[in-house]
Amino acid sequence: MSVLKILEVPNSLLKKKSEPVGSIDEALIKTLDDMLETMYQANGVGLAAPQVGILKRMLVIDASGKDEEPNPIFVINPKITKKSEEMQECEEGCLSVPNQYAKVVRPAAITVEYQDKTGKKVVADLDGFMAVVFQHEIDHLDGVLYIDHLSALKRKMLLKKVEKERKESAE
Ligand code: ZN
Repeated sequence: MSVLKILEVPNSLLKKKSEPVGSIDEALIKTLDDMLETMYQANGVGLAAPQVGILKRMLVIDASGKDEEPNPIFVINPKITKKSEEMQECEEGCLSVPNQYAKVVRPAAITVEYQDKTGKKVVADLDGFMAVVFQHEIDHLDGVLYIDHLSALKRKMLLKKVEKERKESAE
């Protein structure tokens, strides 16, 4: 497995819509394994393919706690088929928007359908943190970042902070 480079804002690939995955072959599975390793190395709970410059509808998630067994989930061609009317607010961050966090309001519960690494169809009812992570990652496949759910002013502020930190660390 190898660690891939994570793209950061304002990279234009992060704004692109990803294509559905066709056949699940060895090369694709290797890419998913590389994405998982990349995510673990960056201490993330989710990573979508466009974040490593691959415009395919697939992502990896592991939202297990520090003292729990790893629980990697490989998600291919996900579709949210149901969203609750009830909303929840949760603080979100993103490996592509380094070191910034903001509260985002999203549906509290969702039903998601996807294929796993073996091509098997999975239907999952999710709420709480898992519902947040899935919605955040699936957004990436449509070129949407969590900061796009914030006000224009707040978004500008966060992007400025990223730029400032990048300059400071380059000095
Ligand atoms: Zn993200």
